[in-house]
Order: sequence, then structure tokens, then C-alpha cells
Amino acid sequence: MVATLVLASRNVHKVRELGALLAPWSLEPLPAGIDLPPENGETYAANAILKAEAAALATGRLTLADDSGIEAAALAGAPGVRSARFAGEGASEEENLAKLLREVPLAGDRRVAYVCALAFAEPASGDPPHVFEARCEGLLAPTPRGGEGFGYDPAFLPLDGADGRTMAELTPAEKDAISHRGRAARALVSWLAERGGRGE
Ligand code: IMP
Repeated sequence: MVATLVLASRNVHKVRELGALLAPWSLEPLPAGIDLPPENGETYAANAILKAEAAALATGRLTLADDSGIEAAALAGAPGVRSARFAGEGASEEENLAKLLREVPLAGDRRVAYVCALAFAEPASGDPPHVFEARCEGLLAPTPRGGEGFGYDPAFLPLDGADGRTMAELTPAEKDAISHRGRAARALVSWLAERGGRGE
């Protein structure tokens, strides 16, 4: 049976990307008035679980949460789980990207990777959330280019199918085919299909 999942996120970009990736499952936005906990876990999975469990407890519904970030080899994996606040609490996506471009030496190791953990919570089951984690490898471009995607995409040159375009120069479907979020979402959709008629 195909069910609707509540998405424990108010990030419009994640809502849009996951909405396309999870078909035939549909996503509902997090109802107003539900507060998500601070993302103070040390791993993507821990943060995704925190968000999924909080939303599942508040709604009693099947819930999905995404925690993601970018890791730079030259910065020993930073900003990682702190990607959303790399340039400080409340920093804009442009400020975070500018800081990454400043801190990774132009002549140094330019390898970067996106990581995404999706946590699926099913309150009625009593089971802990299931987590699906995936990576997407790339190189950091010297200057940002492109108007698609979000966040660090204008400076992320994916290695998969590399043709010189940044993630922000790919179409949404091209990004979905190779992205960390696309890979994690396809693993979740396969798992949901295999477990069969336990939806709502
Ligand atoms: P979260 O909301 O704590 O998971 O923060 C995710 C952070 O990683 C934000 O700074 C996003 O801009 C960045 N990020 C995650 N996924 C992507 C992506 O697909 N493209 C670009 N930036 C991303």
C-alpha cells in the first residue's frame, strides 16, 4: 500500500527534491506548531533520527527526516554536520559557501563529498527509525556557477558523469540521478516497497 509520509523539515529545497524522489509515496509538510529539536548530534544519522522521532511523536504518523551536509578533504571533513551553520548560527547559504571557498586552498586538495541520511520513523511499530545514508563525491570549483539546486551546489563539481558542470548547472533530474539525497531516497523507496502493505 502506498502511504503519505510527513517530512520533518521546513527546508523548501529538501521538500522539493524529496517530493520528486519519493514517488509513488507522497510527502506532507510538517504541520505548523511542531518544533524540531536542535541538531546537536555528531552524525547525520543521529540528527535525522532526532528530527524523525520528534515529528513522529508529535503527529503519530509515518515520518521522514533528512540530515545532510558537505565534507571537504582539505578541512578534515568539515563542515560536515555543521554545514548549515558553517559561517555562524543563522548564516545564509551564500555566506556558508563563501566561507568554504575561502578556506579550501585553491592549490590544495579540492575533494568534497555530499552526505545525506534519511531517517524513517513508524510510531506504531515500536521500532527505532530506519536510516538510509548515501554519499556523492565531487571537487570544489574555484568560483560558483549555475542557478539550479541550493546551498553548496554552485561550487560542487560531481565526479559521477563529470562534464565540467557544477551541481547547480545540472537539471533537477540530472542532480537526482547522482546526488546523495537521490541515492538515499531510492534505497528508502526500495525498502518501503519490499516491506509491502504495512503503510497507512
Ligand atoms: P541540515 O538542514 O542541517 O541537514 O543542513 C544541510 C546543509 O547542507 C545546508 O547548509 C545545505 O545547504 C547543505 N546541503 C545539503 N544538501 C545539499 C545539496 O543537495 N546541495 C547543496 N547543499 C546541500
